[in-house]
Amino acid sequence: MVYYDAAETLSRVEIERLQLERLRASLKQAAKSPFYAKHFAACDFDPASVATLADVRRIPFTTKQHLRDSYPDAMLAMPLSEMVRMHASSGTTGTPTVIYHTQNDLDWWASLMARCMYMAGLRRTDVFQNMSGYGLFTGGLGIHYGAERLGCLTIPAGAGNSHRQIKLLTDFKVTGIHIIPSYALYLSAVFAELGIDPKSLSLRIALVGAEPYTEETRRRLEEIYGIKAYNSYGLSEMNGPGVAFECQEQHGMHVWEDAYLAEIVDPATGEPVPDGELGELVMTTLGREGMPVVRYRTRDMTRFLTEPCPCGRVHRRIDRLHGRCDDMLIVKGVNIFPMQIERVLMAMPEVGQDYLIVLERDGYIDNIRVKVEIRDEYFVEDMRQLGALQKRIAARLRDELLVTPKVELVERNSLPKTEGKATRVLDMRGNGA
Ligand code: AMP
Ligand code: ZN
Repeated sequence: MVYYDAAETLSRVEIERLQLERLRASLKQAAKSPFYAKHFAACDFDPASVATLADVRRIPFTTKQHLRDSYPDAMLAMPLSEMVRMHASSGTTGTPTVIYHTQNDLDWWASLMARCMYMAGLRRTDVFQNMSGYGLFTGGLGIHYGAERLGCLTIPAGAGNSHRQIKLLTDFKVTGIHIIPSYALYLSAVFAELGIDPKSLSLRIALVGAEPYTEETRRRLEEIYGIKAYNSYGLSEMNGPGVAFECQEQHGMHVWEDAYLAEIVDPATGEPVPDGELGELVMTTLGREGMPVVRYRTRDMTRFLTEPCPCGRVHRRIDRLHGRCDDMLIVKGVNIFPMQIERVLMAMPEVGQDYLIVLERDGYIDNIRVKVEIRDEYFVEDMRQLGALQKRIAARLRDELLVTPKVELVERNSLPKTEGKATRVLDMRGNGA
Protein backbone atom coordinates (compact mmCIF):
# COMPACT_ATOMS: atom_id res chain seq x y z
CA MET A 1 0.00 0.00 0.00
CA VAL A 2 1.38 3.38 -0.96
CA TYR A 3 -0.90 5.58 1.13
CA TYR A 4 -2.03 5.25 4.73
CA ASP A 5 -5.35 7.03 4.40
CA ALA A 6 -7.85 7.31 1.56
CA ALA A 7 -7.92 11.08 2.22
CA GLU A 8 -4.41 11.30 0.78
CA THR A 9 -5.60 10.38 -2.71
CA LEU A 10 -8.42 12.91 -3.02
CA SER A 11 -8.46 15.10 -6.12
CA ARG A 12 -8.37 18.89 -5.92
CA VAL A 13 -12.12 19.12 -6.48
CA GLU A 14 -12.81 16.50 -3.81
CA ILE A 15 -10.50 18.21 -1.33
CA GLU A 16 -12.18 21.56 -1.81
CA ARG A 17 -15.66 20.08 -1.58
CA LEU A 18 -14.72 18.37 1.68
CA GLN A 19 -13.05 21.52 2.98
CA LEU A 20 -16.15 23.61 2.36
CA GLU A 21 -18.39 21.09 4.07
CA ARG A 22 -16.04 20.83 7.05
CA LEU A 23 -15.44 24.58 7.22
CA ARG A 24 -19.15 25.26 7.53
CA ALA A 25 -19.51 22.68 10.30
CA SER A 26 -16.38 23.88 12.04
CA LEU A 27 -17.43 27.53 12.06
CA LYS A 28 -20.83 26.55 13.44
CA GLN A 29 -19.04 24.60 16.15
CA ALA A 30 -16.64 27.50 16.85
CA ALA A 31 -19.60 29.87 17.32
CA LYS A 32 -20.54 27.85 20.42
CA SER A 33 -17.45 29.15 22.22
CA PRO A 34 -17.72 32.43 24.15
CA PHE A 35 -14.74 33.81 22.24
CA TYR A 36 -15.97 33.10 18.70
CA ALA A 37 -19.55 34.03 19.53
CA LYS A 38 -18.23 37.53 20.27
CA HIS A 39 -15.62 37.53 17.49
CA PHE A 40 -18.23 36.63 14.84
CA ALA A 41 -20.86 39.01 16.23
CA ALA A 42 -18.36 41.89 16.18
CA CYS A 43 -18.04 41.58 12.40
CA ASP A 44 -21.61 40.53 11.76
CA PHE A 45 -20.53 37.15 10.53
CA ASP A 46 -22.97 34.27 10.32
CA PRO A 47 -21.39 30.81 9.81
CA ALA A 48 -24.49 29.73 7.87
CA SER A 49 -23.70 32.36 5.22
CA VAL A 50 -20.52 30.58 4.07
CA ALA A 51 -20.96 29.55 0.43
CA THR A 52 -17.34 29.29 -0.75
CA LEU A 53 -13.95 28.74 0.87
CA ALA A 54 -13.05 32.37 0.15
CA ASP A 55 -15.87 33.46 2.47
CA VAL A 56 -13.59 32.65 5.36
CA ARG A 57 -11.79 35.91 4.57
CA ARG A 58 -14.72 37.82 5.95
CA ILE A 59 -13.68 36.68 9.42
CA PRO A 60 -10.95 38.68 11.18
CA PHE A 61 -7.81 36.74 12.12
CA THR A 62 -7.34 35.01 15.45
CA THR A 63 -4.04 36.01 17.06
CA LYS A 64 -1.87 34.70 19.85
CA GLN A 65 -3.16 37.63 21.93
CA HIS A 66 -6.74 36.41 21.45
CA LEU A 67 -5.69 33.02 22.76
CA ARG A 68 -3.99 34.63 25.73
CA ASP A 69 -7.04 36.78 26.43
CA SER A 70 -9.20 33.65 26.34
CA TYR A 71 -7.05 31.98 29.00
CA PRO A 72 -7.91 29.56 30.43
CA ASP A 73 -10.97 28.30 28.53
CA ALA A 74 -13.00 30.96 26.67
CA MET A 75 -12.32 29.26 23.32
CA LEU A 76 -13.92 25.97 24.31
CA ALA A 77 -16.83 25.01 22.09
CA MET A 78 -17.88 22.14 24.35
CA PRO A 79 -18.16 21.73 28.13
CA LEU A 80 -14.88 21.30 29.97
CA SER A 81 -16.07 17.86 31.10
CA GLU A 82 -15.77 16.65 27.47
CA MET A 83 -12.07 17.54 27.33
CA VAL A 84 -9.53 14.84 28.01
CA ARG A 85 -6.19 16.56 27.44
CA MET A 86 -4.58 19.96 27.31
CA HIS A 87 -1.32 21.20 25.84
CA ALA A 88 0.37 24.58 25.82
CA SER A 89 2.45 26.43 23.28
CA SER A 90 6.18 26.74 23.94
CA GLY A 91 6.16 30.55 24.21
CA THR A 92 8.34 31.49 27.15
CA THR A 93 6.85 34.84 28.13
CA GLY A 94 3.49 35.89 29.51
CA THR A 95 0.34 33.84 29.77
CA PRO A 96 0.71 30.54 27.96
CA THR A 97 -1.73 29.60 25.23
CA VAL A 98 -3.63 26.49 26.16
CA ILE A 99 -5.27 24.07 23.75
CA TYR A 100 -7.82 21.46 24.84
CA HIS A 101 -8.76 18.23 23.09
CA THR A 102 -11.69 15.86 23.30
CA GLN A 103 -11.14 12.13 22.77
CA ASN A 104 -12.32 12.50 19.16
CA ASP A 105 -9.81 15.31 18.64
CA LEU A 106 -7.00 13.16 19.98
CA ASP A 107 -8.02 10.22 17.79
CA TRP A 108 -8.00 12.34 14.69
CA TRP A 109 -4.67 13.91 15.60
CA ALA A 110 -3.11 10.48 16.12
CA SER A 111 -4.35 9.32 12.72
CA LEU A 112 -3.00 12.46 11.01
CA MET A 113 0.33 11.85 12.69
CA ALA A 114 0.37 8.18 11.69
CA ARG A 115 -0.36 9.29 8.12
CA CYS A 116 2.71 11.55 8.20
CA MET A 117 4.94 8.82 9.55
CA TYR A 118 3.74 6.28 7.01
CA MET A 119 4.35 8.82 4.23
CA ALA A 120 7.95 9.16 5.42
CA GLY A 121 8.36 5.40 5.11
CA LEU A 122 7.83 4.20 8.68
CA ARG A 123 5.87 0.98 9.18
CA ARG A 124 4.50 -1.01 12.11
CA THR A 125 7.66 -3.09 12.14
CA ASP A 126 9.79 -0.05 12.97
CA VAL A 127 11.20 0.70 16.39
CA PHE A 128 10.63 4.37 17.03
CA GLN A 129 12.35 6.56 19.63
CA ASN A 130 10.77 9.90 20.44
CA MET A 131 13.50 12.25 21.68
CA SER A 132 11.42 15.34 22.26
CA GLY A 133 10.24 16.59 25.62
CA TYR A 134 6.99 15.12 26.90
CA GLY A 135 4.66 17.16 29.06
CA LEU A 136 2.85 20.24 27.79
CA PHE A 137 5.00 20.34 24.64
CA THR A 138 3.12 18.64 21.80
CA GLY A 139 6.18 16.99 20.24
CA GLY A 140 6.08 14.41 23.03
CA LEU A 141 2.59 12.94 23.24
CA GLY A 142 1.61 14.15 19.75
CA ILE A 143 4.27 12.11 18.01
CA HIS A 144 3.99 9.32 20.57
CA TYR A 145 0.33 8.56 19.87
CA GLY A 146 0.97 8.73 16.12
CA ALA A 147 3.75 6.16 16.37
CA GLU A 148 1.56 3.85 18.47
CA ARG A 149 -1.35 4.30 16.07
CA LEU A 150 0.94 3.23 13.25
CA GLY A 151 1.90 0.24 15.34
CA CYS A 152 5.59 0.94 15.90
CA LEU A 153 7.31 -0.20 19.05
CA THR A 154 7.46 3.26 20.59
CA ILE A 155 10.17 4.35 23.02
CA PRO A 156 9.20 7.52 24.93
CA ALA A 157 12.78 8.57 25.56
CA GLY A 158 11.97 12.24 26.14
CA ALA A 159 14.51 15.06 25.81
CA GLY A 160 18.13 15.18 26.92
CA ASN A 161 20.32 12.59 28.65
CA SER A 162 22.37 11.89 25.55
CA HIS A 163 24.18 8.83 26.83
CA ARG A 164 20.91 7.12 27.63
CA GLN A 165 19.52 8.13 24.21
CA ILE A 166 22.49 6.51 22.52
CA LYS A 167 22.16 3.37 24.64
CA LEU A 168 18.47 3.04 23.74
CA LEU A 169 19.19 3.65 20.05
CA THR A 170 21.82 0.93 20.10
CA ASP A 171 20.28 -1.70 22.38
CA PHE A 172 16.81 -1.64 20.83
CA LYS A 173 18.01 -1.35 17.23
CA VAL A 174 15.94 1.76 16.74
CA THR A 175 15.05 2.44 13.08
CA GLY A 176 13.07 5.68 13.36
CA ILE A 177 13.45 8.76 15.54
CA HIS A 178 11.81 12.08 16.18
CA ILE A 179 14.33 14.73 17.14
CA ILE A 180 14.65 18.49 16.99
CA PRO A 181 17.40 19.66 14.61
CA SER A 182 19.59 21.49 17.14
CA TYR A 183 19.61 18.43 19.39
CA ALA A 184 20.34 16.11 16.47
CA LEU A 185 23.43 18.18 15.70
CA TYR A 186 24.46 18.22 19.34
CA LEU A 187 23.93 14.47 19.70
CA SER A 188 26.19 13.81 16.73
CA ALA A 189 29.02 15.45 18.67
CA VAL A 190 28.32 13.17 21.64
CA PHE A 191 28.52 10.16 19.31
CA ALA A 192 31.91 11.44 18.14
CA GLU A 193 33.07 11.82 21.75
CA LEU A 194 32.09 8.23 22.48
CA GLY A 195 33.82 7.03 19.33
CA ILE A 196 30.59 5.54 17.93
CA ASP A 197 29.74 6.07 14.29
CA PRO A 198 25.98 6.82 14.13
CA LYS A 199 25.96 5.12 10.72
CA SER A 200 26.65 1.82 12.47
CA LEU A 201 23.16 1.95 14.09
CA SER A 202 20.00 0.46 12.55
CA LEU A 203 18.57 3.96 12.12
CA ARG A 204 17.02 4.78 8.74
CA ILE A 205 14.47 7.58 9.18
CA ALA A 206 14.38 10.76 11.27
CA LEU A 207 11.43 13.09 11.65
CA VAL A 208 12.96 16.48 12.27
CA GLY A 209 11.03 19.60 13.22
CA ALA A 210 9.66 21.86 15.95
CA GLU A 211 12.11 24.64 15.12
CA PRO A 212 13.46 26.23 11.94
CA TYR A 213 16.46 24.67 10.23
CA THR A 214 17.95 24.78 6.78
CA GLU A 215 18.38 22.37 3.90
CA GLU A 216 22.13 22.44 4.69
CA THR A 217 21.42 21.18 8.21
CA ARG A 218 19.18 18.43 6.86
CA ARG A 219 21.95 17.28 4.50
CA ARG A 220 24.45 17.34 7.31
CA LEU A 221 22.18 15.20 9.50
CA GLU A 222 21.53 12.73 6.69
CA GLU A 223 25.22 12.36 6.11
CA ILE A 224 26.26 12.03 9.75
CA TYR A 225 23.55 9.54 10.69
CA GLY A 226 23.25 7.76 7.32
CA ILE A 227 19.48 8.34 7.27
CA LYS A 228 16.70 10.13 5.48
CA ALA A 229 15.49 13.17 7.43
CA TYR A 230 11.96 14.45 6.88
CA ASN A 231 10.75 17.88 7.83
CA SER A 232 7.84 17.95 10.26
CA TYR A 233 5.84 21.11 10.89
CA GLY A 234 3.16 21.86 13.38
CA LEU A 235 2.08 24.17 16.16
CA SER A 236 0.13 23.62 19.33
CA GLU A 237 -2.71 25.88 18.24
CA MET A 238 -3.31 23.46 15.33
CA ASN A 239 -2.73 20.37 17.58
CA GLY A 240 1.04 20.20 17.23
CA PRO A 241 2.99 17.90 14.87
CA GLY A 242 0.98 16.38 12.02
CA VAL A 243 -0.05 19.62 10.32
CA ALA A 244 2.37 19.55 7.38
CA PHE A 245 4.95 16.92 6.56
CA GLU A 246 7.40 15.97 3.86
CA CYS A 247 6.76 13.05 1.59
CA GLN A 248 9.61 10.97 0.19
CA GLU A 249 10.27 13.60 -2.47
CA GLN A 250 11.68 15.75 0.38
CA HIS A 251 10.60 18.88 -1.38
CA GLY A 252 8.17 20.95 0.67
CA MET A 253 5.61 19.70 3.17
CA HIS A 254 2.08 18.57 2.33
CA VAL A 255 -0.49 20.36 4.47
CA TRP A 256 -3.33 17.92 5.30
CA GLU A 257 -6.07 19.90 3.68
CA ASP A 258 -8.85 17.61 4.83
CA ALA A 259 -7.94 18.71 8.38
CA TYR A 260 -6.79 22.31 7.88
CA LEU A 261 -7.56 25.27 5.68
CA ALA A 262 -4.26 27.03 4.94
CA GLU A 263 -3.86 30.57 3.66
CA ILE A 264 -0.70 32.58 3.10
CA VAL A 265 -1.04 36.32 3.63
CA ASP A 266 1.08 39.43 3.53
CA PRO A 267 1.90 39.95 7.22
CA ALA A 268 1.63 43.72 6.83
CA THR A 269 -1.75 43.91 5.08
CA GLY A 270 -3.35 40.54 5.88
CA GLU A 271 -4.24 40.15 2.19
CA PRO A 272 -3.51 36.83 0.43
CA VAL A 273 -0.21 36.75 -1.47
CA PRO A 274 -0.11 35.23 -4.97
CA ASP A 275 0.68 31.49 -4.96
CA GLY A 276 4.42 30.92 -4.76
CA GLU A 277 5.16 34.11 -2.86
CA LEU A 278 6.45 34.31 0.67
CA GLY A 279 4.00 35.29 3.37
CA GLU A 280 2.60 34.38 6.76
CA LEU A 281 0.80 31.08 7.14
CA VAL A 282 -2.75 31.39 8.47
CA MET A 283 -4.53 28.21 9.54
CA THR A 284 -8.06 27.08 10.35
CA THR A 285 -8.92 23.75 11.96
CA LEU A 286 -11.52 21.86 9.95
CA GLY A 287 -12.44 19.09 12.31
CA ARG A 288 -11.53 19.89 15.85
CA GLU A 289 -14.66 19.78 17.99
CA GLY A 290 -13.39 20.79 21.44
CA MET A 291 -11.57 23.95 20.50
CA PRO A 292 -11.82 25.02 16.88
CA VAL A 293 -9.43 27.82 15.89
CA VAL A 294 -10.27 30.03 12.92
CA ARG A 295 -7.76 31.91 10.73
CA TYR A 296 -4.92 31.68 13.22
CA ARG A 297 -1.91 33.85 12.41
CA THR A 298 0.98 31.47 12.89
CA ARG A 299 3.70 34.16 12.44
CA ASP A 300 5.52 31.49 10.39
CA MET A 301 6.79 32.58 6.99
CA THR A 302 6.52 30.23 4.02
CA ARG A 303 5.13 29.93 0.49
CA PHE A 304 2.93 27.49 -1.38
CA LEU A 305 4.82 25.34 -3.85
CA THR A 306 2.76 25.31 -6.98
CA GLU A 307 4.05 22.38 -9.07
CA PRO A 308 2.26 19.04 -8.65
CA CYS A 309 4.14 16.63 -6.36
CA PRO A 310 5.44 13.47 -8.03
CA CYS A 311 4.21 11.42 -5.04
CA GLY A 312 0.65 11.83 -6.32
CA ARG A 313 -0.76 13.60 -3.29
CA VAL A 314 -2.68 16.72 -4.20
CA HIS A 315 -2.65 18.27 -0.71
CA ARG A 316 -0.80 21.53 -1.19
CA ARG A 317 2.82 21.81 -0.18
CA ILE A 318 4.43 24.60 1.80
CA ASP A 319 8.10 25.43 1.54
CA ARG A 320 10.54 24.88 4.40
CA LEU A 321 9.74 27.53 7.01
CA HIS A 322 11.84 30.66 6.64
CA GLY A 323 11.45 31.45 10.33
CA ARG A 324 8.87 33.51 12.10
CA CYS A 325 8.03 37.04 11.06
CA ASP A 326 8.80 38.13 14.61
CA ASP A 327 12.26 36.44 14.40
CA MET A 328 13.38 38.84 11.74
CA LEU A 329 16.36 40.88 12.91
CA ILE A 330 16.94 44.40 11.69
CA VAL A 331 20.60 45.30 11.83
CA LYS A 332 21.83 48.54 10.32
CA GLY A 333 18.51 48.77 8.51
CA VAL A 334 18.93 45.37 6.86
CA ASN A 335 16.41 42.58 7.45
CA ILE A 336 18.07 39.36 8.46
CA PHE A 337 16.56 35.95 9.21
CA PRO A 338 18.63 33.70 11.48
CA MET A 339 18.15 30.92 8.92
CA GLN A 340 20.24 32.86 6.39
CA ILE A 341 23.12 32.65 8.83
CA GLU A 342 22.56 28.95 9.49
CA ARG A 343 22.51 28.22 5.75
CA VAL A 344 25.98 29.73 5.32
CA LEU A 345 27.47 28.13 8.43
CA MET A 346 26.15 24.61 7.93
CA ALA A 347 27.51 24.49 4.40
CA MET A 348 31.08 24.96 5.69
CA PRO A 349 32.87 21.75 6.71
CA GLU A 350 35.02 23.51 9.32
CA VAL A 351 31.96 24.64 11.23
CA GLY A 352 30.80 22.42 14.10
CA GLN A 353 27.25 21.75 15.21
CA ASP A 354 26.29 24.93 17.02
CA TYR A 355 26.23 28.70 16.66
CA LEU A 356 24.80 31.76 18.40
CA ILE A 357 23.84 35.14 16.99
CA VAL A 358 24.43 38.03 19.39
CA LEU A 359 23.08 41.49 18.70
CA GLU A 360 25.03 44.28 20.35
CA ARG A 361 24.87 48.03 20.46
CA ASP A 362 28.03 50.04 20.27
CA GLY A 363 27.00 53.65 20.98
CA TYR A 364 24.18 54.09 18.49
CA ILE A 365 25.37 51.43 16.09
CA ASP A 366 23.94 47.93 16.07
CA ASN A 367 26.38 45.13 15.50
CA ILE A 368 25.85 41.51 14.82
CA ARG A 369 28.27 39.01 16.30
CA VAL A 370 28.15 35.38 15.29
CA LYS A 371 29.74 32.86 17.62
CA VAL A 372 30.61 29.81 15.58
CA GLU A 373 31.56 26.43 16.94
CA ILE A 374 34.57 25.03 15.08
CA ARG A 375 35.25 21.31 14.65
CA ASP A 376 38.05 20.01 16.87
CA GLU A 377 40.30 19.13 13.95
CA TYR A 378 40.17 22.72 12.70
CA PHE A 379 40.62 24.29 16.11
CA VAL A 380 44.40 24.45 15.73
CA GLU A 381 47.06 26.36 17.62
CA ASP A 382 48.11 28.30 14.55
CA MET A 383 46.52 31.74 14.96
CA ARG A 384 47.07 32.60 11.30
CA GLN A 385 44.99 29.65 10.16
CA LEU A 386 42.21 30.48 12.59
CA GLY A 387 42.34 34.12 11.55
CA ALA A 388 41.97 33.12 7.90
CA LEU A 389 39.00 30.87 8.70
CA GLN A 390 37.35 33.64 10.67
CA LYS A 391 37.74 36.02 7.74
CA ARG A 392 36.37 33.44 5.30
CA ILE A 393 33.26 32.88 7.43
CA ALA A 394 32.74 36.65 7.80
CA ALA A 395 33.06 37.14 4.03
CA ARG A 396 30.50 34.41 3.27
CA LEU A 397 28.09 35.86 5.79
CA ARG A 398 28.56 39.35 4.36
CA ASP A 399 27.73 38.05 0.88
CA GLU A 400 24.52 36.53 2.18
CA LEU A 401 23.43 39.24 4.63
CA LEU A 402 24.85 42.40 3.08
CA VAL A 403 26.13 43.51 6.48
CA THR A 404 29.46 42.43 7.93
CA PRO A 405 29.12 40.49 11.14
CA LYS A 406 31.86 40.05 13.71
CA VAL A 407 32.75 36.38 13.73
CA GLU A 408 34.03 34.70 16.86
CA LEU A 409 35.31 31.14 16.66
CA VAL A 410 34.56 29.03 19.70
CA GLU A 411 35.43 25.51 20.78
CA ARG A 412 32.99 22.63 20.80
CA ASN A 413 30.54 22.67 23.73
CA SER A 414 31.28 26.24 24.73
CA LEU A 415 27.91 27.70 23.72
CA PRO A 416 24.98 27.53 26.13
CA LYS A 417 22.72 24.50 25.63
CA THR A 418 18.98 24.46 26.07
CA GLU A 419 16.81 21.42 26.49
CA GLY A 420 14.10 21.77 23.86
CA LYS A 421 14.07 24.38 21.14
CA ALA A 422 17.43 26.10 20.61
CA THR A 423 18.00 29.76 21.36
CA ARG A 424 19.75 31.06 18.27
CA VAL A 425 19.64 34.79 18.96
CA LEU A 426 20.72 36.75 22.01
CA ASP A 427 19.67 40.39 21.82
CA MET A 428 21.89 42.50 24.09
CA ARG A 429 20.87 45.80 22.53
CA GLY A 430 18.50 46.77 25.33
CA ASN A 431 21.31 46.69 27.89
CA GLY A 432 22.81 50.02 28.78
CA ALA A 433 22.66 51.47 25.29
P1 AMP B 1 4.68 25.08 19.56
O1 AMP B 1 3.33 25.66 19.41
O2 AMP B 1 5.30 25.34 20.85
O3 AMP B 1 4.68 23.65 19.22
O4 AMP B 1 5.62 25.78 18.48
C1 AMP B 1 5.22 25.84 17.16
C2 AMP B 1 6.18 26.66 16.37
O5 AMP B 1 7.42 25.94 16.18
C3 AMP B 1 5.70 26.94 14.97
O6 AMP B 1 4.80 28.02 14.93
C4 AMP B 1 7.02 27.24 14.26
O7 AMP B 1 7.43 28.55 14.52
C5 AMP B 1 7.98 26.28 14.92
N1 AMP B 1 8.14 25.06 14.10
C6 AMP B 1 7.56 23.87 14.27
N2 AMP B 1 7.96 22.99 13.33
C7 AMP B 1 8.81 23.64 12.51
C8 AMP B 1 9.55 23.28 11.34
N3 AMP B 1 9.54 22.07 10.82
N4 AMP B 1 10.31 24.26 10.77
C9 AMP B 1 10.35 25.49 11.30
N5 AMP B 1 9.70 25.89 12.39
C10 AMP B 1 8.92 24.97 13.01
ZN1 ZN C 1 4.55 14.57 -2.20
